[in-house]
Amino acid sequence: MSQTNTDTDTDTNNPSYSIAQLGHAVLRQRAEKVTDILAAECQQLIAQMMVAVQEAGGVGIAAPQIHHSKRIFIMCSKPNDRYPDAPLMAPTAIINPEILHYSQETEKDWEGCLSVPSMRGLVPRHKQITVRYFNQQGEQQQQELTGFIARIFQHEMDHLNGLTFIDQLDSTKDLISESEWYQQFANQA
Ligand SMILES: [Zn+2]
Repeated sequence: MSQTNTDTDTDTNNPSYSIAQLGHAVLRQRAEKVTDILAAECQQLIAQMMVAVQEAGGVGIAAPQIHHSKRIFIMCSKPNDRYPDAPLMAPTAIINPEILHYSQETEKDWEGCLSVPSMRGLVPRHKQITVRYFNQQGEQQQQELTGFIARIFQHEMDHLNGLTFIDQLDSTKDLISESEWYQQFANQA
């Protein structure tokens, strides 16, 4: 990243982005493919998403969540209050992602979302996936992901296809308030 002209946007108390909340149309659109990853506009959007996800304390964010309907997301797994067992990884930009293969085996675990505040859902996800995407330098990558990282990837990929974790629940009974989640589950992690 060699963006310096975003400084004026990020060094104020008034961030240059806002997080789209459930109900906003941008969260229900299929996001557009990125055609020029190295273009200043794209690099600037990635930089802004990196700031947004860190300020929000999330482990991932997708471009539609900050009102840009583009096929880009950031994964930045790290242990935190909500995910104490999360592996530590450097914030990584994922562009034009594809999921090439899903394991048959699925598992349920709790997810939250910056666009669905104050709720947690017990979401079934494939345990292992094979993915292909472009990185911030425009290089194609292929990887096998498992467990929590595979979960983040599937959650963020859904945002690019107009879905949220609520759409993936087996039952509305698997949706609870965050305060209840803390009371019931936070100490078991
Ligand atoms: Zn989300």
